[in-house]
Amino acid sequence: MIGDHEHHHIENDEAYKGLNVNSGVEQPDSFDESSIQRFLKNKRKNQLSVEEYVAGILEGNRTILSKAVTLVESSKPEHQKIAQQIILKCLPYSGKSIRIGITGVPGVGKSTFIESTGKYITSLGHKLAVLAIDPSSERSKGSILGDKTRMEELSIDPNAYIRPSPSAGSLGGVARKTRETIILCEAAGFDVIFIETVGVGQSETVVHSMVDFFLLLMLSGAGDELQGIKRGIMEMADAITINKADGDNVDRAEMARVQYMSALQLFPPTDSGWKPKVLTCSAYKKIGIDKIWKTINDYLSHVNQNGYFQFKRSEQSKFWMYETINDQLKSNFYQNPKIKEILGNFEGQVLNEELSSFVAAKELLETYYQSQKVKE
Ligand code: GDP
Repeated sequence: MIGDHEHHHIENDEAYKGLNVNSGVEQPDSFDESSIQRFLKNKRKNQLSVEEYVAGILEGNRTILSKAVTLVESSKPEHQKIAQQIILKCLPYSGKSIRIGITGVPGVGKSTFIESTGKYITSLGHKLAVLAIDPSSERSKGSILGDKTRMEELSIDPNAYIRPSPSAGSLGGVARKTRETIILCEAAGFDVIFIETVGVGQSETVVHSMVDFFLLLMLSGAGDELQGIKRGIMEMADAITINKADGDNVDRAEMARVQYMSALQLFPPTDSGWKPKVLTCSAYKKIGIDKIWKTINDYLSHVNQNGYFQFKRSEQSKFWMYETINDQLKSNFYQNPKIKEILGNFEGQVLNEELSSFVAAKELLETYYQSQKVKE
């Protein structure tokens, strides 16, 4: 057990010569001994009650937080049931954080940026949770945050919590899980939340719909001014920062900054009345990080003053209610055994022009409604 320094490790016996096993290290003071004991006791039963989960989360116990997030991410109905109860109980303690979306093409320096900025933010006394949305991570084996060693310092920072992207499922499903994880992290006392995503697909729209501030990382360089970043993504950004502004690259980064500034002026005014900023930084050399944090804070005072902050949060809640309904209806339809059985056949008939798309859809939906009635 914890602190049992007298414990005999058989690996230290002659037979295992060359192998040396140390006794466990002392627990740091910050650990709440009683909550750990409670946790371990229940772990043996391999089950915590909803109350124990909630109490653990509110105490800021990361082990329990992680377990709860695992439930949120699980697709098993029994896990989902507990997860929803935990979320409901955590909801009153959530919402008091700054949620920041970070996007940019692979290689732009997102991990490095999160590491440097994260360390800076925790040094100011904040507690930071880093989440990710990367629906492709299953295919590409954890392209984002999967490899925690990419954030070496931050991953051992007691005031930071890093959670890789939930891998399985549709973008909608992954997004829902991340939104629920935000609630749990906030209840656990994390007051700054980063949500990382790769700026190449649909996922940044989804991230944009769950954050207060959206930061786009870009690179300078001839010819690749837009780097496959769609105009729509640039329009969502509250700030753009040109990363890798170090060494030979400083002048080029400054030139890119000026170019993006003039590009942004052509965009329609934002709903928040905020004028998106363009900055330069070096995530690697930790230059310009403080300016970015200041910009985020300037933005927050701007939107707190004009009421846009609360307005946007309410709009997001409404949006997510409908998203969840759409997502659940859709997956319920496609998971339906009868539909699964006949869907391929209908698709074939549409392809062979034996059925119109409309009629096929109508008949499939009819079959689905019928099967729902039988259940009732
Ligand atoms: P990600 O794919 O967007 O997460 O990018 P990474 O953080 O993994 O960075 C990609 C590469 O760029 C790594 O080799 C980093 O060391 C390097 N890099 C990141 N930030 C900077 C920077 O500010 N300056 C320089 N010179 N290199 C950087």
